[in-house]
Amino acid sequence: MNRPDALWVLRRCGRHGHVLAWIADQQVAAHMERPAVDVDGDGGDDTALVRCLRCGTWVRQNDTAVTVVIGEPAARAALADLPQPVRGAHGRTCALLRLLAVERLLRGTFLVAAGVVAYHVATRRASLLSWVEQLLIAARPLGDQLGLHLRGLGWPTSELSSHAIV
Ligand SMILES: [Zn+2]
Repeated sequence: MNRPDALWVLRRCGRHGHVLAWIADQQVAAHMERPAVDVDGDGGDDTALVRCLRCGTWVRQNDTAVTVVIGEPAARAALADLPQPVRGAHGRTCALLRLLAVERLLRGTFLVAAGVVAYHVATRRASLLSWVEQLLIAARPLGDQLGLHLRGLGWPTSELSSHAIV
C-alpha cells in the first residue's frame, strides 16, 4: 500500500472505527493477533492485541476506536465469514463512484424538474403569453422612464439599439 492509500485507510478508520476479527484459521490468526501481555505489571491479564482488518493497526478489543469486532476469542470466525473492509485504491475508487452517483442523482433530478417546467410552459403557452403581454403593458411607463421601448410580445429594446437597427 502506498502512502496516499495508507493515509486514506487511516482516515477511514479514524472516521468509522477499526474492524477487528478473531479468526479461526491458526496460520492467519498468528499474523493478526498478539497474546495478552501484562503491560502495567499488576499481575493481571491485559487484553490481547488484534490487528485491524482495514489499516493493520494493533488495537485492543475494548478500545474506544473499535466499532466492529467479528467473533470472540472463544468463538472464532471462519475466514469466509470475514468482511472485506474497503481499503487502498479500491476504497478511493468506491468513494469516487459514490460521489459520481450523487452528482448523477442531482443532475437527473434537475433534468426531470426542467422537463416538468417545460411541459407546464408548453401546455399553458396562451395564458403565459397573455400574462407576459399584461406585464409588458404594466411596465410600459417604467420603460418610458428608463428609455426603453416595450412593445407587445417582442423583446424590450433600448432606444439606441432600435435606432441602430433602423
Ligand atoms: Zn483500522
